[in-house]
Amino acid sequence: MMNIVLLGAPGSGKGTVSNLLEKTQNMAHIATGDMFREEIKNKTELGKKAQEYIDKGNLVPDEITINMLKGKMNEYKDSNGVVFDGFPRNIKQAEALEQMLKDKNQKVDLVLFLDIPDEEIIYRTVKRRICSNKECGAIYNLEYKKPKVDGICDICGSKLIQRKDDNEETITERLKVYHEQTKELIKYYEEKKLLYRVKLHANINITEEMTKEWLKSYNENR
Ligand code: ADP
Ligand code: ZN
Repeated sequence: MMNIVLLGAPGSGKGTVSNLLEKTQNMAHIATGDMFREEIKNKTELGKKAQEYIDKGNLVPDEITINMLKGKMNEYKDSNGVVFDGFPRNIKQAEALEQMLKDKNQKVDLVLFLDIPDEEIIYRTVKRRICSNKECGAIYNLEYKKPKVDGICDICGSKLIQRKDDNEETITERLKVYHEQTKELIKYYEEKKLLYRVKLHANINITEEMTKEWLKSYNENR
């Protein structure tokens, strides 16, 4: 049983790492961004509210986000731990997560920080394409992780789509928000001795072997 928080700028690879951990470690994957996109797709009240913020590249207010997550936490009790992808994004959310886990006699066990230079973010994100099939959720990049057939998912054959907020203007704003709010979590988790930093470079394709290495080396060094 292990709960992992993924920290990193937009487009740093949190989704890819989550998918791998989900598959290889039998962990549940909680992605607040995916939850919001699902609410938007279903045209719920929550979705309508969230969309205003997401389209601008801002954070959805903490109260909305934390309540949404609280409502979902109990759906994941049978898994071998949870990967939190995109939550927490500020100290207030980190404290809320701690409390939610504490109520279940659990804690955050590891924070994987995907450290990637800013210059690469916009480039990576603009070229990102994702599988439209929610069950699959595969992530591609037109530059260094191309699908075999244009616009089609290698794994399940569904159509690939581009996220509406993966445009240069919104990404610039998301990056700004990341530096203003999310980056302080690095220090926060460093002080709690939970942070494990992985340095990533341009055009790197995160692999199953890499994520296993990170877990192994974290476990050996703790
Ligand atoms: P990325 O990490 O590439 O920005 P996400 O899918 O995690 O992508 O998030 C997309 C958008 O959803 C964010 O820009 C933000 O508006 C909203 N969002 C996701 N998670 C949170 C969160 N924990 N708190 C507030 N807003 C969030
Ligand atoms: Zn697919």
